Amino acid sequence: MGTILVNQQQEKKIKYLPCVKCGSENIDFGDCGYSSFNVAWGKCKDCKNEVKINPCSWDISTEEIVKIWNRNNDPKILRKNYQSQIEEIQKLINALPS
Ligand SMILES: [Zn+2]
Repeated sequence: MGTILVNQQQEKKIKYLPCVKCGSENIDFGDCGYSSFNVAWGKCKDCKNEVKINPCSWDISTEEIVKIWNRNNDPKILRKNYQSQIEEIQKLINALPS
């Protein structure tokens, strides 16, 4: 009996966070499909909040796009990022001559 190798695509559910700006779960995930200088996005269809991945690889998966969307729409992560930005700016202010 012979065997053949097949590339099987498996369907999978991926969880994504709602839009951090308006709470909508009506999000469009996609990419241009360009072989070079490809651009991908997660875009809230209600308030137009958009996370752009530019450039991204030609074969970026929806899973990767969702991962980046989640990172940019997670209040916990955003709070931490903003907090470190505040600290950086505070250092700059403190370094100014009075
Ligand atoms: Zn929104």
